[in-house]
Amino acid sequence: MKSADIRRSFVEYFQGRGHRAFPSAPLVPQGDPTLLFTNAGMVPFKDWFLGNAKTASSRTPRAVSVQKCLRVSGKHNDLENVGPSPRHHTFFEMLGNFSFGDYFKEEAIRAAWELVTQVWGLPVDHLSATVYEEDDEALDLWLKLSTLPAGRVHRRGKADNFWAMGETGPCGPCSEIFVDLHPDRPAVGWDEGTESGRYLEIWNLVFMQYERDEAGVLHPLPNPSIDTGAGLERVSAVLQGVDSNYETDLFRPLLDAAADLAKMKYGEDAEKDVSLRVIADHLRAVTFLLADGVIPGNEGRGYVLRRILRRAVRHGMRLGFEEPFFHKLVPALGEIMGQHYLELAATRQASVSTIRTEEEKFLSTVANGARQVQEEIERLRPEGRTELPGAMVFRLYDTYGLPLEVIREIAEEERFRIDEAGFGEAMQSQREQSRKATAEVQNRMAALREVVRGHAELAETRFEGYDRTEMLEANGAAEVVRLATWKDGAPERVSSISQGQSGVVILDQTVFYAESGGQVGDTGYLLWDGAGGRARVVDTQKDASGVYFHFVEVEQGTLTRHMRVQLKVDHEVRLSTQRNHTATHLLHAALRLVLGKSVRQAGSLVAPDRLRFDFTYHRGMFRQEMEQVEDMVNEWVRRAVATELVWRSYQEAIAAGAMALFGEKYGERVRTVNVPGFSLELCGGCHVRNTGEIGLFLIDTERGVASGVRRIEAVTGAYATSEVRQQRAAYQELVTRLGIRSGDYDQQLQRAEQIRQRQDELEQEMRKLRMQLVSGAAADPQEERLVDGIRVLAREVPPAPANEMRDMADSLRSKLGSGVVVIGSRSEDNVSLVAAVTKDLTPRIKAGELVKRLSPIVGGGGGGRPDFAQAGGKQPENLPAALAAVEDAVREQLAR
Ligand code: ATP
Ligand code: MG
Repeated sequence: MKSADIRRSFVEYFQGRGHRAFPSAPLVPQGDPTLLFTNAGMVPFKDWFLGNAKTASSRTPRAVSVQKCLRVSGKHNDLENVGPSPRHHTFFEMLGNFSFGDYFKEEAIRAAWELVTQVWGLPVDHLSATVYEEDDEALDLWLKLSTLPAGRVHRRGKADNFWAMGETGPCGPCSEIFVDLHPDRPAVGWDEGTESGRYLEIWNLVFMQYERDEAGVLHPLPNPSIDTGAGLERVSAVLQGVDSNYETDLFRPLLDAAADLAKMKYGEDAEKDVSLRVIADHLRAVTFLLADGVIPGNEGRGYVLRRILRRAVRHGMRLGFEEPFFHKLVPALGEIMGQHYLELAATRQASVSTIRTEEEKFLSTVANGARQVQEEIERLRPEGRTELPGAMVFRLYDTYGLPLEVIREIAEEERFRIDEAGFGEAMQSQREQSRKATAEVQNRMAALREVVRGHAELAETRFEGYDRTEMLEANGAAEVVRLATWKDGAPERVSSISQGQSGVVILDQTVFYAESGGQVGDTGYLLWDGAGGRARVVDTQKDASGVYFHFVEVEQGTLTRHMRVQLKVDHEVRLSTQRNHTATHLLHAALRLVLGKSVRQAGSLVAPDRLRFDFTYHRGMFRQEMEQVEDMVNEWVRRAVATELVWRSYQEAIAAGAMALFGEKYGERVRTVNVPGFSLELCGGCHVRNTGEIGLFLIDTERGVASGVRRIEAVTGAYATSEVRQQRAAYQELVTRLGIRSGDYDQQLQRAEQIRQRQDELEQEMRKLRMQLVSGAAADPQEERLVDGIRVLAREVPPAPANEMRDMADSLRSKLGSGVVVIGSRSEDNVSLVAAVTKDLTPRIKAGELVKRLSPIVGGGGGGRPDFAQAGGKQPENLPAALAAVEDAVREQLAR
């Protein structure tokens, strides 16, 4: 059975039993800041299990899915296992069926058994199951519903067979299905068999039947739920009769492609095979992360992605790759998975180029880092040391991303050691710091949610603000549902907020847009008591379940729970924001036309006064390209096209060619923003009704913000006009000051150029004069001293830039032929000293030493090479004394 057939058979089996099929959610979980990546099939349904309000309306009692999962961080981290283990991956697909308070243990076990034995046809005597040791109910059900003998249903402890969503919340026993991969061999003990992987866990059925409270007490849930997960790769291995996931149709072509590139064969060298497996595995993780919009970076998800990618490249280095190779494997993955995961094709080009850039950068990091390690070793060796300090190793490792492995290798070659303990300490202390920082932010958000929402369910706030920015019904339009204020920085639930206080307001409905999709939250006023009461809304945010938080400062009166208020969004501000939002879409579309399809949105900020758009591209834009983009957007603005805001099904929208942000989770029905003929995007934000409202679009800057990511900042509407006006005023001021007001632009530019040229000439002339002044009199025997037969010249010169000082010293030195030159110059509060010694004398007199000896006299320090050295000082009054000391300084050196 091909893996594609397994996917299909699983989904169809459960569809036939009343389950609704859901497409895989992205690897980046939505609305859950505590979780870096989706690591199980249940993650997208978390709110459904928790019974949160927002999902109540769309919830179906039964669901089935094939979910993309990544286990590289947090509770589930299989990264280190990947390569050696035949059954663990970073990225894998989880087949799952779910019941949300609908069927429970009996049907879950019956269905799993039927699917495994009837549909997939696995022989009963290859199978066994486990249950939680205290779960007699599950044990009895297995014996009743399956034909497994009692000896093949094992009771297991908490570690393996009890599942919990978190410290508190839903939890319950689970039951796992195992397959014996070598039924022909004599049976072995359970622990031995599972550890070696011969008894392979393919499917875990979780029975969510309790809720754990803060004290750790389990309360039975009134409507227990089912969450199951089977690994597609493992099931494929079993059904394709191989004993490693890597031998399945999901992996083998990837291994072969990688081996081909490395000019070798998989299966001939055990150590190299590990590297090939790591590469094949990581290719999937990296490509799917990119397809879901994660971008390599230095923190969070981007950092994880970068580390996985670099791990693959390092294994590539072990196979002998010296040039970027990893990106060349992306098409092979597309061939295996592209049919099922359409995002792969859509992002292929961009992924290849991002990976290649990352590879190049990493390879050069390694080369540079290696050089730095080498230098450090050269520096330490003369001091008789043989160990690289831990802090220094950590700096190379952390800041430059140089793998420890590489540092170790170089050190070993040079017979150096690494201070491993010191390195560990440095690493530990950095981890501590970052852990503290994230914990703090999370705690504050969680506290707010907890306080304002309490334990009782809170309905999602109805948003009515797409078409209107006011709700001024006389008796108050919206009801105050909950209130909170701040006490010592922490939120506290209250029943009223009085004048002068600030706090958070939750309403049953609102016209205030809550920050999302890059668009900032609305500001405005809540009004009550015929406007005798007034609260300023300074920001609006919402949480994952759709509850809106209005952050307010009460300016007049008292805001009380259950009262009704009128709503008034700052209308002009919102209009400006809308202009920028629609302009952002047009900019996105224009960039793709001008730069090509590899441009992908990587983030955006839509504020009233400006917009910021981050996108993937491998180089900076040329001015011409920027003008082209600007022209294109303005042309679409001038055509005054009516925008169309339509709700439709996700499938329909994508079929119509809508640009979806990869990594964004969309519901069943999505809102599309269409500028007919130019742009079609999925977007929940606020837009102008007609592009003409944008007025004018101007790009301010374009620059790089991370590797492979560019940022454009732009303005529209009145902000654009006022910017043009400002620039015009600045220009007028400039030409006035330069005295070149008359004439047209060309003439003005010409004259500005003339002014610049004239200035260059004057500087040249001054330089020449200064040089003449200094060296023209070099032959003056009055100034020259003979010290032990060596010509020594010490002289004060007029102030000049550092490079000119060097030239002066140089020319004096060559005029001497053989000798020592020291010149000094001073300005109001600075001294500059330069010493130069002709080559023949450097064995006896060193310029660096001279400067070291003289600079303290002028209150400074400095040094340099034996033939040339420079120093600065802060005591101009002492320059003559320093120059007078030259003779002695030379004598001292000669005496040594
Ligand atoms: P194991 O003990 O083998 O690591 P697990 O107990 O962590 O598995 P679950 O969290 O119960 O696994 O996940 C459900 C199913 O997902 C497993 O039965 C297995 O088929 C699959 N699975 C889990 N982790 C991985 C992984 N890293 N790579 C591939 N498949 C996996
Ligand atoms: Mg595991």
